[in-house]
Amino acid sequence: MENLQNKLLDLIQVKCCVCESDNAEIVGEGKDFEYHTSEDTFVAMRCNSCGLVYLNPRPKVSEFKKIYPASYHAFNFSEKDYGIVHKIRSRLEAQRLLKSFKGLADDARILDVGCGDGFHLKLLRQYGKKSWVPEGIDMDERAVAKAQESGLIVYRGSVESIDLPENSYDGAFIIQTIEHVENPNKVLQGISRLLKPGGKLLIVTDNTDSLDFRFFKRRYWGGYHFPRHWNLFNKNSLAKLAAKTNFDIEVLETQVSPVNWVYSIHNWLVDIKAPNWIINRFTLKSTVSLSVFTMLDIILQKFGKGALLRVVLKKPL
Ligand SMILES: [Zn+2]
Repeated sequence: MENLQNKLLDLIQVKCCVCESDNAEIVGEGKDFEYHTSEDTFVAMRCNSCGLVYLNPRPKVSEFKKIYPASYHAFNFSEKDYGIVHKIRSRLEAQRLLKSFKGLADDARILDVGCGDGFHLKLLRQYGKKSWVPEGIDMDERAVAKAQESGLIVYRGSVESIDLPENSYDGAFIIQTIEHVENPNKVLQGISRLLKPGGKLLIVTDNTDSLDFRFFKRRYWGGYHFPRHWNLFNKNSLAKLAAKTNFDIEVLETQVSPVNWVYSIHNWLVDIKAPNWIINRFTLKSTVSLSVFTMLDIILQKFGKGALLRVVLKKPL
């Protein structure tokens, strides 16, 4: 019995972070199919008012070390381990970053919020204007250490409380991170504090108004990433969050990604105890399944139903 207790996480009840309401219903239930960090079954709720999907109850912040083990991929997305996938993703992500920050001044300071090991910062350094100043912040000391090893300017801390000069950044981005944070509202306010008036914020996050969500939401949806994704948005809930934090919306669209498709299938295979050689065909290293679902998602994206949301916000002048 004691053993089992060790494998259960300390959880807390939360409300919708956009509406501050608990008028919500259960949309899905599942386990940590990817890292098996606990024995808990987790519950995803959907807010009846704004459509936000959120983990409830969710692990306390004190459980971070348990739910983000050292093998966690955000700390280990290297060219050596991921080969061709790393190459293709790097090129794509670089294009997407540059598209969002086109027109920024030559001496622009650009902040990566939740920069991990510095994957996107390195892309900005390599493909962006040479006079730009890319900087990052992250809560995780392992990630910060890795980024600093690559010669990047990275600070450890949370954007809500970090001691950086106000009104000093021309651009900021938070890529596949807002779904992980405790309080998206405070994170956007923190970013707004650091941005200059007119400064731009790029947000990329999982889209719950997508076909992959509709197919797999009852249990296996990759975007749940149980128990690490705490708030999952659609266009409506993200637009409400932007309004609540006084940002203007410049772009609100969807973006192609195969990852949630691949991981939804991965999670299903894990749950039915399929052999490992089949499960391993559906990971971030599986070029075939990533290619197939990229093609599918390109079609869906044309109908405004891509697997990710891409949002560009502007701090009003
Ligand atoms: Zn809500």
